[in-house]
Amino acid sequence: MNKPYCFITNDVETTSLVYHQLRDETGKLVLSQGMPRLLDLFDKLNIKTTFFYTGYIAERFPDVVKIAHQRGHEVASHGYSHLVKNAFDVMPNEKIKEHLFKSKDILEQIIGEEVISFRAPALRIKKNFTPFLLDAGFKIDSSVASQRMDMIMSFGSKHKLNWLLSPRSPYFASEKNIFSKGNSELLEIPVTSILVPYIGTVMRISPLLLKSLRPFIILEKNLFNRHVNFLSHPNEFIDEVQDESVRIQKRSKNPISYVLADVLRYRLKIKNLGEKAMPLYRNELMFLQQNGYDFHRMKDVYGNFKLKHASKRSS
Ligand SMILES: [Zn+2]
Repeated sequence: MNKPYCFITNDVETTSLVYHQLRDETGKLVLSQGMPRLLDLFDKLNIKTTFFYTGYIAERFPDVVKIAHQRGHEVASHGYSHLVKNAFDVMPNEKIKEHLFKSKDILEQIIGEEVISFRAPALRIKKNFTPFLLDAGFKIDSSVASQRMDMIMSFGSKHKLNWLLSPRSPYFASEKNIFSKGNSELLEIPVTSILVPYIGTVMRISPLLLKSLRPFIILEKNLFNRHVNFLSHPNEFIDEVQDESVRIQKRSKNPISYVLADVLRYRLKIKNLGEKAMPLYRNELMFLQQNGYDFHRMKDVYGNFKLKHASKRSS
């Protein structure tokens, strides 16, 4: 049996976790701090990964794309804009097409190579998304988090309910429903979740909770040779300076929900940010390495899945 695949994926954008908004200043730090820290770690561990960029950050800071590409990582699309109003499950169809083409084109101009992998900002896609991606020239999507159960608390929760029944292993998506298997040319590589998402945010907020997923990840590996797809963001590895006056923007009127929702959420979001996140991340990558996963860029495995899919269909 082949070794199970491991995909280390990084969403590159200007989201500031400290200021809770998109900021060009944050983009600068992603370029000067977040990316070098991650790239050095990947080199040390000899791992090749996939970076998903918003077109916006790629346009403002093309070097953020070039440095990863030069060091052998895959350059992939994270849409054009990370603004909530531009989420792919709410934009009109014409806008969806425009953003998909634009993001792919910007990245291809920078690296001079084809870009075939995609992940939607905030994992927000809709059921009939497969043809949109294929028409724009994408072959791989990684916006589905099968059996991730915190969707109720996140944006776009209506469409995310489809995660309940979506397959856990990589699959060719249906033309009509990206959340289920079918015969389109689009390969879906789900983000790993064991009810709780296997992502950088959980790693920082509760290293113990992340660790508690390990036995289940290993069990699925042993039983099904299941892949792992770990998601994090270079903006989690920057030391952004906190300005006290904007630290906690008071959003809730009710004092109790203010404390619970705003203060706690804020404190959690910025826990173990920057330099402090590095040993946690290194530890997680080493756990995966020690358990015999084969690390791949997404685009490199498309052909293998295609072959398997074709032989299954003809038999
Ligand atoms: Zn994102």
